[in-house]
Amino acid sequence: MENPEQPENMNLERCVEELKIIKEELAIENKEKIKRAAELVIANIELAFQNAEKAKRAAELMLANKELIFQNEEKGKRAAELIIANIELAYQSQEKAKRAAELIIANKEHSFESEQKEKCATELRIANTELAYQNKEKEKRAAELNIVNKELEQFAFIASHDLQQPLRTVSNYLRLLEEKYLSQLDEDARKYINSTNNAIKRMNLLINSLLIFSQLGNNRKLANVDLKIVLEEVIADHEILIKNSGALIEMSAMPALNIYETEMRQLFQNLITNAIKFQKVETQPKISISAEQKKDKWQFAVKDNGIGIEAIHYEKIFDIFQRLNSKAEYEGSGIGLANCKKIVQLHKGDIWLESKPKEGSTFYFTIPNLAVSATN
Ligand code: ADP
Repeated sequence: MENPEQPENMNLERCVEELKIIKEELAIENKEKIKRAAELVIANIELAFQNAEKAKRAAELMLANKELIFQNEEKGKRAAELIIANIELAYQSQEKAKRAAELIIANKEHSFESEQKEKCATELRIANTELAYQNKEKEKRAAELNIVNKELEQFAFIASHDLQQPLRTVSNYLRLLEEKYLSQLDEDARKYINSTNNAIKRMNLLINSLLIFSQLGNNRKLANVDLKIVLEEVIADHEILIKNSGALIEMSAMPALNIYETEMRQLFQNLITNAIKFQKVETQPKISISAEQKKDKWQFAVKDNGIGIEAIHYEKIFDIFQRLNSKAEYEGSGIGLANCKKIVQLHKGDIWLESKPKEGSTFYFTIPNLAVSATN
């Protein structure tokens, strides 16, 4: 509220004074504000710089994080790889241990086998020495047997040859007796003469068989011969016997071989005629002849459906004069199979049989490949 006693000038002065103060204060305030503003600008710049730094740092951190994540991932991958590698290593170690164990066993086996081989080799050496000794003994025995055989052949030849003469004398005198004195002889005497005649015939047959046996292979000559032709000729030679017996003969393919033809013909002839002869009553003889190649030899078989042979006689029937049946039942001298054996042996082969009584027999023999020049 204005004081009425104060003059107007004084009021003005005071106002001016006050305004001046206010102006000064304002100026100070402005200055302060400008200073503040300047400080704010600086602070803002600083803040902006700091923000930019923070952003840079954040970007760097992001990069560093990415890098870290990548490294972590790599580490994870590497760890997984390491786990796999470890598993693989553990497996390989196991395998190695297994292999080592197997090797130990194999080594043991090997050393055992080596020992066994060594033992076998020693045994083989002993067996070989034994074999060599046995072979030498066999060769010696074969040479001795050869000499004995030759002597026996000579004896058989001389004996049979010399036996023929007295037999002829007996036969001649018997004929004279018959011619001159038949009318004076009674029934019994005629029977005796008849029996003597039969015995002379049989003796003659045996002597001749023995002669053939002893001479067998003496003039042999090895040649390449077609056995089919040989067999066809043997069958043709026995046409009447085959016809009369009603025999059925079949034959497989036959080879051409280096053989002693005359002897081989006789071998087939003996086996075929025996197959026809030793037949069961009222049975059609069925004979099959076959040949089969076996490595370095041929195996032949003559099979029949005849009376058969007991196993205990398999060896004996190849001996000279050995017969299983009476001459009344089946004719023969008992020398046929001995001839067969001798012929097969001349060819360096083997002969044997398989048979079933009352069912039939199969005679087998082998003929090796013989070189013509070496054996002639
Ligand atoms: P042979 O025929 O002259 O009697 P072998 O030496 O040929 O003489 O035969 C000896 C014996 O072997 C014969 O008497 C006979 O008993 C027996 N034999 C031979 N071949 C046969 C055969 N195919 N079947 C049955 N027995 C046989």
